[in-house]
Amino acid sequence: MKAFYAEEQKRHDPKAFLSSGAAQPNPEKPERVEILLAGALSAGCTIERPGNHGLGPVSAVHTPEYLDFLEHIYTRWQRIEGASAEVIPNIHPIARNGSYPASAVGQAGYHMADTACPISGETWQSALWSAWSAVEAAEAVISGAPAAYALCRPPGHHAFADVAGGFCFINNSAVAAQVLRRTASRVAILDVDLHHGNGTQGIFYARPDVLTVSLHADPVRFYPFFWGHADERGEGPGLGYNFNLPLPRKSADAAFLEALEVAFQRIRAFSPDALVVALGLDAFEGDPFGGLSVTTPGFSRIGEAIAKLGLPAVIVQEGGYLCDELGDNLTAFLTGFGGKTR
Ligand SMILES: [Zn+2]
Repeated sequence: MKAFYAEEQKRHDPKAFLSSGAAQPNPEKPERVEILLAGALSAGCTIERPGNHGLGPVSAVHTPEYLDFLEHIYTRWQRIEGASAEVIPNIHPIARNGSYPASAVGQAGYHMADTACPISGETWQSALWSAWSAVEAAEAVISGAPAAYALCRPPGHHAFADVAGGFCFINNSAVAAQVLRRTASRVAILDVDLHHGNGTQGIFYARPDVLTVSLHADPVRFYPFFWGHADERGEGPGLGYNFNLPLPRKSADAAFLEALEVAFQRIRAFSPDALVVALGLDAFEGDPFGGLSVTTPGFSRIGEAIAKLGLPAVIVQEGGYLCDELGDNLTAFLTGFGGKTR
């Protein structure tokens, strides 16, 4: 299977985030890249550099106001006397029906959901190349590859059309789905990350052409808290085109695979022409987030099960944090999916 990645994606190096109010080292580290690259190579992938695809595929799912913010906020932030080295919000509108602020501090609060997505001078370029890796993987599938892997880092599934959050800036899975829509009349996104894909859900919530399905730790006591519940089904023309499968904390392989079968039933009923797999590996039992208990052989079975849907697939890297097995878990998923034979 072809895999896509650009060196620029490693430059974004966020320093900290707040967890239960306490400053902690940010776990979305550039070191993830080397481990995931090794994992993809072990699965038999060939690594290619994506091309520069410009802003078109990104602005297809994000507002121009937000993209302008992402590109320029770091420079504006540096002009504030005494400001932090990275852009980190400290005030948020409780609803989005107020005025759009002119100030950098106000806009940071408007466009950033939490403290987990600090913006440095490198963030914009890293996020863009990450999105272009997703674009290139989608193009490969459009050109006839049965599957392609996008090593997207920074990840994307917590980014809404105009809001960053949870280590995410540009929603790579949404970008890939929108590119696939050029030739596919219906696209399904299956998100198996530990956390609910709230940004992806938000982007397609009112659309019937992209089905969004997410398996994740129950958000009743877990990030992202406000989204990911079973009663969120879409709205307007998109009602019935969003499907959440929250799992009890520490659910292991059997429960995950059982929920996956329920997800497949919904995906088959939608009869999509193509699939995006939002592949988080943080559902792993040894992941620092510790929310679910999927094992390394479990990821292989998950990959195998998804491949049986028989759909052209773009596999987009989402979460999965530093632990000894991170690379093995990617190898397990891709090998299960058919990495050696495709
Ligand atoms: Zn996650």
